[in-house]
Order: sequence, then structure tokens, then C-alpha cells
Amino acid sequence: MTLPLGIAVRASSTWEKLSHYRGGAGMPRSSQDREESAVLWRLLATHSGHRIAALYEDTSRLNALYVGDGGPDMIGGDADGDITFERFLDGWREGDVAGLSPIGHGVLRCLEDGGQLWLGAAYGPGPGEVSFFHVAAPGGPGNSTDDPVNRSLWRFLAEHVMHELSVDAVPATPTAAIGTDGGPSFDDYVCGWPG
Ligand SMILES: [Zn+2]
Repeated sequence: MTLPLGIAVRASSTWEKLSHYRGGAGMPRSSQDREESAVLWRLLATHSGHRIAALYEDTSRLNALYVGDGGPDMIGGDADGDITFERFLDGWREGDVAGLSPIGHGVLRCLEDGGQLWLGAAYGPGPGEVSFFHVAAPGGPGNSTDDPVNRSLWRFLAEHVMHELSVDAVPATPTAAIGTDGGPSFDDYVCGWPG
């Protein structure tokens, strides 16, 4: 499954370092797009236990996903088989913890440089099945509308572009991850970031 993240804005003269993702002309930066941010957070939850990567277009790693006429379903695309944002978010109750118990802590890990982002408590109907990650206390805003938390995810995906990432629900809060004790706070991590 794929999700277009927006236009990649470079941080330097090479593509090694990425600053952030933005929409097309007249569109907000991707981190300020509420619907796309919600889609991104739901995508992480539903792919807990999987590997993900933010990939540039026209790279061998992305093209390798397309074999013959086949390819991954795209969220937000307009081809047959693609999934609209509206449909992908249908029935999702981000941050609504009523009747749910935390089943662990979400962490997004870079398998190449060890960078870690805390995603909050993982809530779901059962072990291994995550409905959403939630940083705020129960009753607080969902991650996609919690600005420093949401922007931290977008910054992490820009900083680790082309890196292999793992989405996991783990038993305890990770140490030294962004957003946890020992790591920068979400506010500090996005302070001064243009995305
Ligand atoms: Zn990385």
C-alpha cells in the first residue's frame, strides 16, 4: 500500500537531506493537511509490525513494487483500485479510547541509523491489532490533530527518507526516542523546522 507524501523540499543542494514535504501550488505543507495527516496516522496503525519507507519517485526501490500491470494500492490516487482518503478514514475513531485498553507503546524506528520516534500508547481491540496510537492522555486530541506530535512524524519521515523504518507496538515506552524521557520533546524536535 502506498501514500503520496507530497512534493519533497530539499534541505541542501543534494537529495541526501530532505527538509519537508509540501502540497502543490496553493496547497498547505503536508504536515498541515489535516486529512492527509489522519490518513498517515491510520496507515501507521494498520501497519503496526510492518516495515515502511518514505521513497522518492522513480527510484528502483519504489519501481520494484510495480511488477507488470500490478502494484500496491494507492491511498489518495485516482486509478481503479485506489482508495480515497474518505474511504480509508471511514469508521476510524482516532483518539476515542472508550472501551479500549492500551496494548503497548508505538514506536517508529529507523533500522539504518537507530533513530526512534515515540508514537504514543497503542490502542486496539486485541494484541497485535492497533486501531490508533495516542500520545495525549485519554480524552486528549488525536495524534493527527496534536500539532507538535503530528509535525514530528512528518519531520521524521523527511529526515529518514529512503531509510527502512519499522512500526512496532512494544511493551514499554522506548527510551531516548523523540517524545520520551531521554529524547527531545516533540516541541523541541519541530522547533524552528519549516515543515
Ligand atoms: Zn534513518
